[in-house]
Amino acid sequence: MSFFNTIETGNIDLNFSCLKQNVKIYMKREDLIHPIISGNKFRKLKYNLEELKKNKNSLLITFGGAFSNHLLAVAYLGKIEGIKTLAIVRGEELKDSKFNTTLQKCSDFGMKFEFVSRKKYRERNTNKYNCELQFKFKNSYIIPEGGTNILGIKGCEEILSKYDKEFFDVVCVPVGSGGTFSGLINSSLEKQKILGFSALNNSNISEVINKFVKKDNWKLYDESFFGGYAKFNNELINFINNFYKKHNIKLDFIYNAKMIFRIIDLINTNSWTFGKKILIINTGGTQSVDGINELLKKQGCKTINY
Ligand SMILES: *Cc1c(COP(=O)(O)O)cnc(C)c1O
Repeated sequence: MSFFNTIETGNIDLNFSCLKQNVKIYMKREDLIHPIISGNKFRKLKYNLEELKKNKNSLLITFGGAFSNHLLAVAYLGKIEGIKTLAIVRGEELKDSKFNTTLQKCSDFGMKFEFVSRKKYRERNTNKYNCELQFKFKNSYIIPEGGTNILGIKGCEEILSKYDKEFFDVVCVPVGSGGTFSGLINSSLEKQKILGFSALNNSNISEVINKFVKKDNWKLYDESFFGGYAKFNNELINFINNFYKKHNIKLDFIYNAKMIFRIIDLINTNSWTFGKKILIINTGGTQSVDGINELLKKQGCKTINY
């Protein structure tokens, strides 16, 4: 498929002026890969799509939350490839409420939904649930939440170029289900350090990562600054708005903004012990900003302005 072929993304020098250590920070613009299938979701779907086509499956089933970038990417892919898509969505209560902008876009692209309770959703990676789905929906291809499986990780092994591996001491990436991080670790050189910044507090994602990688040149940070997954405060919103003003780059608030905030903090508190040539992977994910701003407004908070 044509657009899956054009994927070497450029790095830009962020020219940070606020740093208290002499380091150079570059950003890989994976966020610019595609306006809808942004960043890492594109990488993770590439080989899964190939597999689905090889198997001649007629339905693509996957899992996600109501703001999921992955669901939107799958919905869009289904539309342009003529593949039916079904999402198992976390939250039974959403069945009867108005779709947020992410789910509405998914629906416009032809995606169907099955809304399940949080309890049921927790079973999403079990064989039992997957067999149940295979039985109910014949000839379907199931992609796990976030697109993280062996084939998804294989796609993420293509993020770093040969130059990136030789030039950079450290590569930083946000972590959700751990697929992108795993792919980067697999493709890195031993001398490089790969730092993952989890969107969750107290995740047991290290176990998942250890299943997919053989190297140990990595370190994972939990989200312990803003209170956990999708939590935020005015400081974070200000950071995103200022970053946009200064660099003209949009950061999403769940993954990339929190990662960069943390990196700057590590550097400026002299906790950065890794290396001076740093590459940050911007994984994109700003599609949900309209929905998020609606929530922020309702709560009387500052909104993201870009
Ligand atoms: C899904 C997502 C991630 C997390 O990627 P994983 O491979 O699930 O760890 C990071 N950033 C953005 C913008 C995402 O949409």
